[in-house]
Amino acid sequence: MNMRESINTQRLQALDSAHHLHPFADYRLKDSQISRVIVKGEGAYIWDSEGNRLLDGMAGLWCMNVGYGRKSIADAVHAQMLQLTYYNSFFQTTHVPAVELAAKLVQISPPQFNHVFFVGSGSEGNDTIVRLVRHYWDKQGSPERQVIISRLNSYHGSTMAGASLGGWPSMHKQGGLPIPGIVHIGQPSYLEGGKGKTPEEFGLEAASWLEHKILEVGADKVAAFIGEPVQGAGGVIVPPSTYWPEIQRICNKYGILLVADEVVCGFGRLGHWFGSEYFGISPDLITFAKGVTSGYVPLGGVLVGDRVANALIEKGGEFNHGYTYSGHPIGCVAALENIRILEEEKIVDRVRTDSGPYLQKKFEALASHPLVGSAETIGFLGGLNLVKHKGATVHEHIPFESALSVGMICRAHMFDSGVIMRAIPGDRLLMSPPLTLTHAEIDEMIKLIGLGLDQTLADLK
Ligand code: PLP
Repeated sequence: MNMRESINTQRLQALDSAHHLHPFADYRLKDSQISRVIVKGEGAYIWDSEGNRLLDGMAGLWCMNVGYGRKSIADAVHAQMLQLTYYNSFFQTTHVPAVELAAKLVQISPPQFNHVFFVGSGSEGNDTIVRLVRHYWDKQGSPERQVIISRLNSYHGSTMAGASLGGWPSMHKQGGLPIPGIVHIGQPSYLEGGKGKTPEEFGLEAASWLEHKILEVGADKVAAFIGEPVQGAGGVIVPPSTYWPEIQRICNKYGILLVADEVVCGFGRLGHWFGSEYFGISPDLITFAKGVTSGYVPLGGVLVGDRVANALIEKGGEFNHGYTYSGHPIGCVAALENIRILEEEKIVDRVRTDSGPYLQKKFEALASHPLVGSAETIGFLGGLNLVKHKGATVHEHIPFESALSVGMICRAHMFDSGVIMRAIPGDRLLMSPPLTLTHAEIDEMIKLIGLGLDQTLADLK
């Protein structure tokens, strides 16, 4: 590929630095932190403006489930743009793509789901959740049920409600968050809280925090509990097997709505259409986005289970909520074609039975590297911790001093080796690659990660 002739990298970087405020960035540093310009994507790879090819171990931002450059999605979008670029579904109108996609989503989702509300993103989906669950309880004659319980270190988006549901202190510090009626319990992180316990014991303990919080708030005031089946941006926190069934039991006991935020886990990432199926739970509501279109076009939504949908249909009264781009036809056709690809190429099944187990074997073997304290995957999500000294158990490893920023240094070496991972505080590196990776591509990714680790180790000597 010869992009360099047509793309002036320095000019773009100068303009970017001068005018473009990036998400989650420190603007004081913007002149010193020069951005890499990404110009092309194909399959699991992207290219920067200097011609470097990178294996995208993060699938963009956890979203490129079918990989880059699918012509059939581009064709579907093109045809729809010529047919009907835009229409909405307000005021008793609808259009073919929204109708077809709603029906398709109902077909592939668990049996309790027969309705869908479309939005433009995961954050809008979670805003919709907050309004929908409170509207539901109002209609049920329990308007005092307002409180939504979420978890520390969860990520549910960047709008006021999304960031409030999320459990990041750094986000809560800005903008007066969380908004009223949202409270948090601890996350089911065995690494963080499981010392001296089996994972199963710790899973039950972490779930019991929900019951304690319900009793503290008052069961008659709690509307819903929301959680990502596996916390993504918080660090690929895989809950012990006992956690979700116990959460389900507690929600049932107190009649509280269970909401699964499947923005990351949905559409095959855990080898099922939805991550809640992996854990055998039956949420009342599901938030989805990202993988529904594999990121080709923004689209999200809320799957509304029969318990909520039937009550709202029966009781009536307008739900005063909706977006100009709810069910945008271009997003809907992209989603339909994306789901068709996932089905035709049996991508979800492959993640469950073939490529997922293969990735697990290869990725978890990275734990033998001198820098890696632990490495685990679930489906096509993974995380590894870099440690200074390894102890006998994960709870006895000694971490690096945070000022050394070893995780960020390692991420930079990964980039130089040709693979993208995400680094988060605690020197943890995350992986969420396109679901299409072949065995050969998995081998290549593991080799590149190994090179990045070796380089980091060399730096530390
Ligand atoms: N929920 C989860 C679990 C996410 O990971 C994200 C984004 O990363 C969101 C919600 C927010 O989605 P969006 O960025 O599309 O608003």
